Amino acid sequence: MVCSEQGCLYLVATPIGNLEDITLRALRILRSVELIAAEDTRTSSRLLAHHGISTAMVALHEHNEQAQSKVLVRKLLSGQSIALISDAGTPAVSDPGSRLTRMAQEAEVKVVPIPGPSALITAFCVSGFESSRFLFYGFLPVTASARRRVLEEFKEFVYPLIFYEAPHRIQDCIADLGEVLGNRKIVIARELTKFHENIVVLTLDEARHWLDADVNHKKGEFVLIVEGAPVRHDIDIKMERIMSVLLETLSVREAVSIALKLTGARKKDLYALALRFHQKNDPV
Ligand code: SAM
Repeated sequence: MVCSEQGCLYLVATPIGNLEDITLRALRILRSVELIAAEDTRTSSRLLAHHGISTAMVALHEHNEQAQSKVLVRKLLSGQSIALISDAGTPAVSDPGSRLTRMAQEAEVKVVPIPGPSALITAFCVSGFESSRFLFYGFLPVTASARRRVLEEFKEFVYPLIFYEAPHRIQDCIADLGEVLGNRKIVIARELTKFHENIVVLTLDEARHWLDADVNHKKGEFVLIVEGAPVRHDIDIKMERIMSVLLETLSVREAVSIALKLTGARKKDLYALALRFHQKNDPV
């Protein structure tokens, strides 16, 4: 399938702050297509004006994506090429675009990604986390109870967790992250590529103080990267099982003494484990 018979749909990544962060290919595509579908035409007109691009624009946002996609697919089938852009970063990543993409694919229109900035990758590369694996969640739910429920699901997840967050929820979100996940390391990447860019590595406890320390720390756009849970080896899981069974009928001292004979683990570690279980089952 070639783009000359029918149009191509290009998913074009645009800057997440600094207007220079756009590829030569993206600029060429934005100049050459018949139409640009933009999440917010006013926001994108600043980018296009900065680069001297005067291609016609139409709005495609979360409220009109279904209806607008039908119109755009018809244009694609009639031979027009269209570039889809969002307000910032890569379209269809926590942004509109997936529905249009699916409809274009179903109509056998060629869909071409034009890669470039995305806040999650920009933040992850400066996070210092060793892993090349991570889980990108995007925006957490807005209510505290739903947010905590989601975080509970990832409590044992061993790779870094990446979230997007809005400034008016940043404090509550950081508090919930600490409460549910414990005092782990967090990288707060704020206002990436912009004048007030801030990248800090803190513990979740420190992060709460950091937000309170300066009103400006709560402003702007945020990517949050939270360290994964410590890896629990099979041997630790077995030890926990043994201890929990022993504690069903024995005292801490008795359970530790039998676990010592069964496992040969360090007495100090077994005591710590037994007390942890004991406290969990017998909260004061
Ligand atoms: N499609 C975009 C992408 O590829 O990154 C994401 C769009 S999503 C609607 C917007 C969210 O991305 C913001 O609320 C923020 O969490 C994050 N974000 C976007 N630009 C950012 C920036 N310059 N610095 C930090 N976070 C940013």
